[in-house]
Amino acid sequence: MPANRFRASFNRKPVFVCECCGHRTRETGQDDDRFCGPCVELLMMQNTLWDGGAGDWLPKARDEFVAKISKRGGDLAKVRAFMPDLFDVEGYEAKRAARRSA
Ligand SMILES: [Zn+2]
Repeated sequence: MPANRFRASFNRKPVFVCECCGHRTRETGQDDDRFCGPCVELLMMQNTLWDGGAGDWLPKARDEFVAKISKRGGDLAKVRAFMPDLFDVEGYEAKRAARRSA
């Protein structure tokens, strides 16, 4: 039955490789098939940082997701390279302050 077959392939998302950590997954944080769940969370955190809304909570929250990615064999070097600002919050804030006073 063509209709059923269509529905089956529509519901079942294909496995993809996360562009950030290299994890093979079917699970995404959102309707995004480029990044896995934890990487989507980290990318949103980096956006929050860029928006100036990051606080003391950020490094801790970041490390929790990093631990998740690490636990399932994600490539942390790649993750760090993918979002350098998120892994150097102090450096980023310093650059930001310098830009503001310039
Ligand atoms: Zn990922």
